[in-house]
This record gives sequence, structure tokens and C-alpha cells, in this order.
Amino acid sequence: MNNKYQSEIADFMAYVSARNPHETEFLSAVEEVAETIIPFIEETPKYKGKKILERMVEPERVIMFRVPWVDDQGRIQVNRGYRVEFNSAIGPYKGGLRFHSTVNLSVLKFLGFEQTFKNSLTSLPMGGGKGGSDFSVRGKSEAEIMRFSQAFMQELFRHIGPNTDVPAGDIGVGGRELGYLFGMYKKLKNEFTGVLTGKGLAWGGSLIRPEATGYGVVYFAQAALNNIGKTIKGMEIAISGFGNVSWGVVKKVNDLGGKVVTLSGPDGYIYDPDGVKGEKVDYMLRLRASNQDIIEPYAERYGVEFFPGKKPWERKVDLAIPCAIQNEFDEEDAKQVVANGVTGVVEAANMPLTAKAIEVIQSNKLLYVPGKAANAGGVAVSGLEMTQNAMHLQWTAEEVDNYLKRIMHNIHENTLKYGRLDDGYIDYKKGANIAGFIKVADAMLEQGVV
Ligand code: GLU
Repeated sequence: MNNKYQSEIADFMAYVSARNPHETEFLSAVEEVAETIIPFIEETPKYKGKKILERMVEPERVIMFRVPWVDDQGRIQVNRGYRVEFNSAIGPYKGGLRFHSTVNLSVLKFLGFEQTFKNSLTSLPMGGGKGGSDFSVRGKSEAEIMRFSQAFMQELFRHIGPNTDVPAGDIGVGGRELGYLFGMYKKLKNEFTGVLTGKGLAWGGSLIRPEATGYGVVYFAQAALNNIGKTIKGMEIAISGFGNVSWGVVKKVNDLGGKVVTLSGPDGYIYDPDGVKGEKVDYMLRLRASNQDIIEPYAERYGVEFFPGKKPWERKVDLAIPCAIQNEFDEEDAKQVVANGVTGVVEAANMPLTAKAIEVIQSNKLLYVPGKAANAGGVAVSGLEMTQNAMHLQWTAEEVDNYLKRIMHNIHENTLKYGRLDDGYIDYKKGANIAGFIKVADAMLEQGVV
């Protein structure tokens, strides 16, 4: 940390903490940004004294609503729905919807705040937003998931639109849920528009969107590794999760000649020394679609070891890519991977490393790439889906993939530019924060106090 501005950072955090008590996830996302952005603001006259960061940590609008629905037994269920419209300085609010039991306002504010920087990094015109519900698809029937999604959209539809706010998927919201959400939006509004991204291919979706987050993570990882004279080829990689992001990572690592040896769920992790390859990759999707949220069946099916209640970070590998959820990788995990001689950690999930874990990795001068840079490929292809919808056409997979590669390459270059330290170490966290901040801050300054 830049000690010169320690007291400014502490004052700022005291201000934000007082206004947002108990919002631990949101406060840690803000602190992580404040530590690099406050010194940058202090040293850049055009941003100084404009309360830019004070404005950026205040969502433009927060919508909270009741989502009542009826389960298969005829019982009435009540969930809470949210949409946090964080920042629209550079484009319509854009960001996913998360359906998960851990969803609350703090989590969605942290995600919306991060999304603002991430979307800026893509260079596409998208503001930041996030939404969702404390509803979990775990153990629910297809009919229940449909009824819940429809009930959720019965309120959300009045707040979103292709030029206002464009939600997409996130944990618990994939193609199936987006279909039900889109169907209800279309019925209520009587219009067919690109109001959601991650749509099905037959109804306005983009090729490569399902793979995009994972592919983008691996493109970024490859660029960062090349920068230190290494490559994915031949690497053994530990990842967590077994959802959409993990699936894209596995596919692209395999394409580039690496090997993913772990997958995990809330129940533990599997270790597959031959690598997750061939039909095992498709099996991941089937397992996810079963709504059980457990990875153990993979071990039974393919005769590999399952480690109940453990995290994959205890394996000796070359690279770790957490793909699951916030705070899944703590200080102890960081110490473990450092002791195991890992090259680095690339975040595919949003904020999977705790602040202490990041400190351990960075103080050992190992590669650390924050999610807001590494996983920006998902929302970038969402932006390309919006473009295709506006043009009423569909690009080929190759066209979309080429755009994605170019965008990830540019994000890498941009973060490198602002993240290079005097000793040559690349602080991708600093680079991503500053590169993401500049575009949003400039737009806010030019648009006046609104
Ligand atoms: N939920 C994804 C993210 O965290 C994608 C958002 C989008 O495509 O709008 O970036």
C-alpha cells in the first residue's frame, strides 16, 4: 500500500463504513479500490477535490422488491429481489442477476461497484449494475424455477430496457433462467428487444457468450504468463466450481495445451490427474443442470478421488484459478499455494480472494490478476450481443471470438500500463483499478454534478 496517503484512505473508509454499516463485502470491494485510486486522485489535479470517489461509491439507484411465488406443493414462498443501478456514466447499467442463498444488498453492491470498473475496462459503452435474489435453484423443480423467474420479472420489467439497464446471468442464472425472464419481459412489454444478454441463440443470443467468461480468463492468463516468459501449455491448473465459468476455463485451457486437474462444489473437490477432458467437459454441464450443486458424482463416475469439505488450493499445481464465489480463497489458502510453488492466481470469479490472500500473493511477487480484469470477457461479449441486437444480425463464432481476444489483449495492455511498479513487478490490481477508473471519472466530470 502507498503509505503516503494512509490517512486519506483511512478517512475515506471511515466515511464509507459509517454510511454502509455491516456491508462487509461492499466495504472490502471499496477499500481495495480506494487503496490504489486515492493516491492516483491525490496526484492527478483534474480529479482532486471533485468528490469523484464519494460519488462513485453511492449507487445511482437501488431497487428492492418482493417476489412472491407458489411452490410445487401449493405453498406460498416469498423471496427478495434487487437491482442495484450503480453507475451509468459511460452507458446503460449492465451486469448480471444472481440467484443464490447468499445474495443480499451488500453482496450486490460489491458486485455492482466492481462491475462499473470491469465494464469500463472492456472499452465498450456499458455502465455498472447488478441484481438478483436470495432464491436458490438448488433442489428446485423446473416448474418452480420458471414460476420464480416469471415472478421476479413481473416487477423488474418496469425498471429495465435496452437503453436503460441490461441484465444478464451470473451464479444461478444461466440460459434456462434467462429464457423464462425474457419470455415474461416480452409478454409484459409487448416488444422483442435486447433487454437481456446471454439469450438463447434462436432468440437474439450471441455465439460464444456461454464460453466467453472462461475463454477471456484464459486469454488474459496467457497474456500475463507470456509477459513473465511462461505459458499455459504444459501447466497443471487447479480451479474451483463446476458452473459456466469453470466450463469455459476448462475448454480453453485444454485448447492451449494445459490441464485442469480439480473441480469443486460446496461439498468438496475432485482431483483428476488425467485432466478434465473429452466427455467429462460436457458432463460438467449436465451436473450443473441437475440443480444439486454437488461435485461428488464426478468422482464416482470417473473413478477419481473426492475430498469432502476441502478446497482445491491444497493441491500442488502451476496455476490456481478460483471460479466459484467471493471470499472462497483466504489467507491460509494463499500461504498454501505459495508454499507449493504456484506461478500465480488468476481470479475468474468476482472477488474470490480475500484482501489478506491478495496481500500474501502480491508480497511474494507472484502473479495476481483481479476478476474485474480477468473475467471481463463475459460482459464484453454481452456488449457484443447488444451490438448484434441493435444491428438485427448475428456474427459468426469466429468473429465474436476474435473480438473477445482483441478486447482481452487490450485490457491486458491497459492494466500493464498503469500497473507496472518500479521494481518491474506488475500490480494488476492497481492497473485494473486505475485503467477502469479513468474512463468513468472523465465521463462523470464532463457530464457535471448529476
Ligand atoms: N455476471 C457476469 C459478470 O460478473 C456477466 C455480466 C453481463 O454479461 O452483463 O461480469
